Amino acid sequence: MNSNNLSTLYIVATPIGNLQDITLRAIEVLKTVDCIAAEDTRHSLPLLRHFGISTPVLALHEHNERERAAQLLQRLQSGESIALISDAGTPLINDPGYFLVREARALGIRVVPIPGACAVIAALCASGLPTDRFTYEGFLPAKSKARLDKLKLLQAETRTMVFYESPHRILELLQAMLEVFGAARQVVIARELTKTFETIRLGPLAELCEWVESDANQQRGEIVVLVAGAPESVQSESFSAQHVLSVLLEDLPTKQAVDLAVKITGEKKNALYELALQLKNSIK
Ligand code: SAM
Repeated sequence: MNSNNLSTLYIVATPIGNLQDITLRAIEVLKTVDCIAAEDTRHSLPLLRHFGISTPVLALHEHNERERAAQLLQRLQSGESIALISDAGTPLINDPGYFLVREARALGIRVVPIPGACAVIAALCASGLPTDRFTYEGFLPAKSKARLDKLKLLQAETRTMVFYESPHRILELLQAMLEVFGAARQVVIARELTKTFETIRLGPLAELCEWVESDANQQRGEIVVLVAGAPESVQSESFSAQHVLSVLLEDLPTKQAVDLAVKITGEKKNALYELALQLKNSIK
């Protein structure tokens, strides 16, 4: 399809709710490539039909990405152009495609992004939280201990943090966040972006937690959660050797905790070992 005859893998963003959010360029590319690789063909067919796109579609999802990628790479190497789409938003952002893109680039195949909707960016830019530096954390683990551990590692993060969460776990996530970040930390819940029931609410964690708990509607639909970064002073305190060691000692034997703390803080091993013994004695 390229005027310069280069076969190309296009990474095409599709809407995250409102069909009008597709770009003109996305429609043109989807109409003219040789084939569209879609996360779920049944899900994407109505969208493609809506825009009069009749390009052949095949499935590329997390369970067949490697085999399917091999076929697609062969087709790209034989001169075809292919577009990758996911169920919604930008492919590879919590959606399949990383393996395909990595391998395509390794083979010298041209990879071209066709940007558009992405829930992280849509939520962030309307959140009212700082946008100059942010970290995208995707979905946290579903199991409560693993989720809490991951959150603890983010306790001192000073950048705005962006999370995806499924509606049936939103309350658990907020409650875990309350435990780690405290009641006053500013949080935004961005739900059903670009759709009829779009809701974006900013407030202290305790207040939003209560709101979601008391209103079952807030536990439905698609949700992005954003958390304000910690103030800089909290960061230096939390990354002190003492803080790092006490967190590690909660779950690890002393030697392993000290070895890891040395790597994290760059402090001397003997000093950290001494500190670990003091901390352990003070816990008893
Ligand atoms: N690739 C997509 C993107 O570009 O944002 C994300 C796919 S991920 C599998 C699906 C998650 O994205 C949802 O569980 C939700 O957290 C978030 N999401 C997608 N669409 C959304 C929307 N319209 N409003 C709020 N969150 C959304």
